[in-house]
Amino acid sequence: MKLSSFAYFARFGLKTILLRQEKPILGTIILTDKCNLHCRHCSVNNITAVLYPYGQISEEMARLYAMGVRILFFCGGETFLWQDGEKTLRDLVVEAREMGFLIVNVVTNGTFPLDLPEADLILLSLDGDQEKHNAIRGDTYDLILENVRRATADNICFYMAINRINREDVRHVCLLARDTPNVRAVSFNFHTPYPDTRSLALTPEEKAACCGAIAQAMEEGAPVFNLKSAFPYLIHNRFPTPCRQCVVMENGRLSTCGRCIDVPGLCQECGYFFVAEYTLLFQGNWRVVFEMLRTYLKYI
Ligand code: SF4
Ligand code: SF4
Repeated sequence: MKLSSFAYFARFGLKTILLRQEKPILGTIILTDKCNLHCRHCSVNNITAVLYPYGQISEEMARLYAMGVRILFFCGGETFLWQDGEKTLRDLVVEAREMGFLIVNVVTNGTFPLDLPEADLILLSLDGDQEKHNAIRGDTYDLILENVRRATADNICFYMAINRINREDVRHVCLLARDTPNVRAVSFNFHTPYPDTRSLALTPEEKAACCGAIAQAMEEGAPVFNLKSAFPYLIHNRFPTPCRQCVVMENGRLSTCGRCIDVPGLCQECGYFFVAEYTLLFQGNWRVVFEMLRTYLKYI
């Protein structure tokens, strides 16, 4: 991370903590809900299957930038399916950089060639070992790892949503991240129990076991892009929700925190690690502040 970006985030953090301001810093733009997969835990794919037009996305970027957002995620559906005429995902990432976003990340299911060195991080979903991943995401494990091997940059971060099917595979994904070229880190979430996927949710005891496995793998050198200091809050859902510093834009509609904010009661069972990490950070939890500084400087 550049020193100037670091200084910007430090100023924002201090102002947010000391003045209790609620301005956003992290924004997500949904490019489409179209997806080539039908994962077991997914509640958002192919509802409209529309690829939102370039002009609209460009305006959404400008709107988020004007609000103060400086960390931008492009999300789907499947982001690599997005295109509009000659414009591709790469053009969006480059434009976001030119606009002044300090960190630009892309979320993908990894089934398309990974040639996007312009992104800070490519968050690539890997949900366990071959058997568990394929049980959740269809027969894609081998293809994804082949795409990782052929990637044109080392900006890949595995992204695992832990649920009842794959909870024993946390260690496998941690060590795979450590030992696979082009993979810089791994980041986790617990399954957030949407009404149609409640059966995949973990108990606090199961979450505690997963956090123990992640912590153990960190001791063994696994590059985990999460904060150990947030684990106790995640296990018992004791972090504040929603995250007021995060916004999501989908088809011109702005939501605070996530598009899941409209699902009654869901925030009390939120499994997103970033929500715990950011809300604790901006509450001024100093253990989280120091660990986040260390972690972000290491992986971005
Ligand atoms: S890849 Fe993502 S959007 Fe597509 S079905 Fe799976 S979880 Fe849903
Ligand atoms: S469930 Fe609530 S707190 Fe969690 S990401 Fe969605 S909106 Fe945010």
